[in-house]
Amino acid sequence: MPILNHREEIRRRSLPAESTLPESSAQVRFAEPADEEKAEAFQRIRPGLFATCVNPGCRSGWLHLWRSRSTPVFEQGWTCSPECTLARMLSAVSREMNSRRGAHETHRHRVPLGLVMLEQGWITREQLRRALDAQRAAGSGRLGHWLMTQKSASEEMVTRALGLQWSCPVLQHENYEYSALTASMPRLFVDAYGALPLRLAAGKVLYLGFEESLDAVLALAVGRMLGLRVESGIVPESLFRPAHRRMLDARFPSVELVEAISLPAAARALAKSVERARPVASRLVRVHDCLWLRLWLRPNGGPLPEMDSVEDVVCSIGNVE
Ligand SMILES: [Zn+2]
Repeated sequence: MPILNHREEIRRRSLPAESTLPESSAQVRFAEPADEEKAEAFQRIRPGLFATCVNPGCRSGWLHLWRSRSTPVFEQGWTCSPECTLARMLSAVSREMNSRRGAHETHRHRVPLGLVMLEQGWITREQLRRALDAQRAAGSGRLGHWLMTQKSASEEMVTRALGLQWSCPVLQHENYEYSALTASMPRLFVDAYGALPLRLAAGKVLYLGFEESLDAVLALAVGRMLGLRVESGIVPESLFRPAHRRMLDARFPSVELVEAISLPAAARALAKSVERARPVASRLVRVHDCLWLRLWLRPNGGPLPEMDSVEDVVCSIGNVE
């Protein structure tokens, strides 16, 4: 649609019903709350001066056209004031916390690894029993580890069995370019959830490796945050561990950790970060019990941000669920 039509639309929506301008601003009536979908369309055409604040409850009406700010942009678009940023953040926080997406994934029943291997004929009942005994006696260690220690199965077998157990591919990585991938998520997630970003294929698919169990919640969150398809898979232990260590030593985007006592407190802290950084884009997603806010400080060309052009805020919330 030509930009002129949009301006026309803005005039119709933002000015008082009588098409003449009032003599003083005191006479201005507030425009109707902005329609979110249209606001988003305007934002794409012209952020800043002629943009419409995306807060549907925005009270500043057409006056915000005179406000000299073109940032911050949070999710669907530009907000005209700290109050409007907070309103958008409150709705984003409640959207994320009320969403049960991914929650069932972690509880889905999986066939135990030993049974998968037994069914495939890769180990005998006796080998399985010995590994289970050793695991019980030691009180630790994964079954796959004990099968390998007792020479009952090779690493390749165990990895293939994990792939079957999780219905996912086995990911090998030869020319591993981890330094290019650390901008994909905060170091905290790589560490806490045992994830290993492996490769970006065709600028569209991010391969995410795990050692023994997939984290579908994290994969979904990263996909939503970056606008990429995320393919998860199992990485053989002997490749995973050194690569994971190297990645943890690499440089990651700067991160701010926030602890909030309630959802409104979380929204206030996150909105403050948005106001402080004035990002050209930002987005909120939930990762398990945390909220992850990413702030893009400059426009980005590629599918992954440049290291210094993003900042992350990870917020944990006490006493929720
Ligand atoms: Zn506003």
